[in-house]
Amino acid sequence: MTQTRTTEEWQAADAAHYLHPFTDFKSLAQKGSRVIARGDNIYLWDSDGAKLLDAMSGLWCVNVGYGRQELIAAATHQLKELPFYNSFFQTATPPAIELAELLTEVSPPQFKHVFFSGSGSEGNDTVVRMVRRYWDLLGQPERTILISRNNAYHGSTMAGASLGGMSGMHAQGGLPIPGIVHIEQPFWFEHGKGMTREAFGLKAAGWLEEKIVELGADKVAAFIGEPVQGAGGVIVPPSTYWPEIQRICDKYGILLVSDEVICGFGRTGQWFGCETFGFRPDLMTFAKGVTSGYIPLGGVMVGDRIADVLIGQGGEFNHGYTYSGHPVACAVALANIRLIQRDHLVEGVRNDLGPYLAEHFSALAEHPLIGEAQSVGLMGALQIVRDKATGQTFDPSLEVGMLCRGHCFGNGLIMRAVGDRMIIAPPLVMTRAQIDEMAGLIRKCLDLTLVDACGRGWL
Ligand SMILES: *Cc1c(COP(=O)(O)O)cnc(C)c1O
Repeated sequence: MTQTRTTEEWQAADAAHYLHPFTDFKSLAQKGSRVIARGDNIYLWDSDGAKLLDAMSGLWCVNVGYGRQELIAAATHQLKELPFYNSFFQTATPPAIELAELLTEVSPPQFKHVFFSGSGSEGNDTVVRMVRRYWDLLGQPERTILISRNNAYHGSTMAGASLGGMSGMHAQGGLPIPGIVHIEQPFWFEHGKGMTREAFGLKAAGWLEEKIVELGADKVAAFIGEPVQGAGGVIVPPSTYWPEIQRICDKYGILLVSDEVICGFGRTGQWFGCETFGFRPDLMTFAKGVTSGYIPLGGVMVGDRIADVLIGQGGEFNHGYTYSGHPVACAVALANIRLIQRDHLVEGVRNDLGPYLAEHFSALAEHPLIGEAQSVGLMGALQIVRDKATGQTFDPSLEVGMLCRGHCFGNGLIMRAVGDRMIIAPPLVMTRAQIDEMAGLIRKCLDLTLVDACGRGWL
């Protein structure tokens, strides 16, 4: 049982012992953490009792909101029944089998098999191992290279961080590992100005074909991408991008991998982002929303093209995790997916909440600080600019995004800053009234940021 302490006591113990992910330890110890103590529905309370509207669903994962009894009951029941057993030695557990079955029901038709991991990063490690195994079995072992994009996020293990295109991550620990190369991202605001979005989408997809030709198609195993780049700043690709990527992968026989860790389970208004953007992957990585973050679980949906070879040819796949198919995690995922089905959350995002958020974003696009407002389903980005007419951005060293994020925290809203791009991915259970409340808070915080920027002479 966790003790009750004052915020200062929590902060002191935190700074003394707890190394946080993606954190400058020294500077955090000076500033002190905000301690999040409790959650209900779309709201959180910190250790001082301040209420926050969580427009980030934790970390893109608490899609059904906090405090759902269905998930709590499923975990409690399974903990009593069988808290753990593995699937290594000709064994399996009922929740893992049932979840495998249910996942194939909600996935596109080419997926009839799943491989479980404990997280999205591990799922992408499995992807690397599996695509290379596939080409090996087909007698083309020289097909090893995976192509990814700059500013992609695929996790933080050695393979995940290598697949990702974050230069700061590559700079530490000697990444990327061999056999992973990157092309430029389909980010119109950064790379496509002066072209229509549609023309830019075709051009950006063309960078994949150029890279394949440069490397030699007989060396390329797969292309991987997030349908919408999440951690990179909610970069919604032009509608032309993914169909063209599909065409290129088909042309060269290259496997197509969709990292659905954020987009999966309804975020974009379909069960999976590949359905929203019109492509047909051979593998899909999932995590986060599969359990709404209540407990860690990840994995890879394995399409028939690959499953037929892996299963058909036989031979052991020398790969797996202790927690592959963890029964408690699988029981929570089952309850979570059944809740999403029962309450028609995916349809709700597609037909009601997504379009309603888009209306608010069109209005926010008129704000003097906003150069681009993009949303799809319940994920969105507001690009802060210095000059609305030209789209000129602020000097990054001014950290305007962090300034805005500070105003959000101070005014009861959790919104994330990726540079000067403010991003949201709120729970899929929001009401229209809660979207109004969130949009009102966003506007207020943009106004406060504008006042600061004027006051400091940055405009
Ligand atoms: C979060 C994320 C991952 C990594 O998942 P972890 O569970 O943190 O390992 C991978 N891919 C994408 C697209 C993500 O957003």
